Formats: sequence, structure tokens, C-alpha cells
Amino acid sequence: MVTVKSPEHIEIMRRAGKILGDTLRLLEETAKPGMTTKELDEIAYDFIVKRNHAIPSFLHYDGFPATLCTSIDDEIVHGIPSKKRVLKEGMLLKVDCGVGLEGYHTDAARTIAIGEVSPEKRKLMEVTKQSFFEGIKVLKDGARLGTLGHAIQTYAEANGMSVVRELIGHGIGTTVHEDPDVPNYGHEGRGMRLSANMTIAIEPMLNLGGKEICQLADGWTIVTADGSPSAHYENTVVITDDGVEILTL
Ligand code: MG
Ligand code: MG
Repeated sequence: MVTVKSPEHIEIMRRAGKILGDTLRLLEETAKPGMTTKELDEIAYDFIVKRNHAIPSFLHYDGFPATLCTSIDDEIVHGIPSKKRVLKEGMLLKVDCGVGLEGYHTDAARTIAIGEVSPEKRKLMEVTKQSFFEGIKVLKDGARLGTLGHAIQTYAEANGMSVVRELIGHGIGTTVHEDPDVPNYGHEGRGMRLSANMTIAIEPMLNLGGKEICQLADGWTIVTADGSPSAHYENTVVITDDGVEILTL
């Protein structure tokens, strides 16, 4: 069921989203060669829980053991932070995080270059981020989900990247994942019609190689089938009469 949020509930999500945006900025400023993904997870937990008295939405969600998903290079999403995973110059790190307040959640992700990365990885990062912004240009009250997916896919493929199909965006509110499904591909003018005050997480996941994926034996981490690097960029947005408001910048 797709829910339309009240102005009061959107205001709660706006406050949660601000904490989440600040958390991701802190991680972007902090992540350096030599750190472990576990250290980043602890920094995010402390910032969300101790500094801001908010809820890390992913911790214990479906049994997930951490505040952050940390995924490196060919890992697309759902990597588990670890003391053994040390960041190295040239890696592409994806951090995905959720913040909840007063029963409402927000979800966002960034791709972070660790030191200097290759020109191919740099382009992948930039195209992935820009594909999100190309997507939201078509959104407003009455816009269709296929038009959003089409805009993201068209931009990604025109720039030589492939779009992961099995992992998609989603509605968000009292739980992290709600209806509707929000694919990063689609046909213009097709799909469900969005309306003002719906809240969705839009999250293009683009690969430098093929679009196919696999899951690792840990039961969580998703990787590219061909081992090529992947990037991820996500924000929670609210649909408005004439566009969107991004809640997690
Ligand atoms: Mg999400
Ligand atoms: Mg996410």
C-alpha cells in the first residue's frame, strides 16, 4: 500500500533526513586510507545515537548487524562493516545509512573515493550521482515512476554505465522499505502515478561493466558478476506539487 504523508510526518522525516545528511557528510570527510569500515560504522553510530538521539534504522533491520552498509569496489550494496576491512588508496567505498526519529525513517547513500581513484572510477561515481539528479528533474505531483526510471537509465547508459535491475528504490516512512517499488529503469509515461506528499528513496546503482549481480556467502553482500566497480547514490525525497524536496542532503 502506498501512503501519502501528513505535513507533520514529513516534518519529522525532514529532521531525521538532516541528521542522515550530516552523518554522510561526516563520513565523506573522515574516510581515509588505513581506516577500517568498522571504525566508520562506530563514528556513524555515535553521531546518530549519542550526538543526535536518533535511531540507526538499519541496525537489527532483518537481522543486519550494523549502522552502515559499507561496500567496496565490486561490492554494490549491503556490505557489513568489519575490523578486518581496511580502506586503501584508490578504493570506491559506498556507505548506505538510515536514520529514524519518532517512528519515521529516512535512507540515503554516498560513494566515497578513498584518496585518488582511477579516472574510470571517478566517472562512474559522477555519472551515478548525476543520474539521481537527472531522475528527479522529471518528478512532481502526477509524474509516473516509469518516467523517473527512464530518465535515470537513459543518462546512465548514454554515459557508458549499466543499471542494476534487481536492486531498486522504494517508498519509505514508518518502515525503511514501503511501497511503491522505484526502479532505476523503465518506460516514459508508464508505471504508477506519484502524488504530492509521497516519500520515496531513489537510489541508482550503476556498474562500470555488466548489469548482472551475485550475492556473497555472508548472505548480505551483493557484488557485480563480472567484478567491475559499482557506485551508489541515494536520497529520500518528498514529492511536491511542482518537483521534489530532497530530505537527506
Ligand atoms: Mg534504500
Ligand atoms: Mg539505502
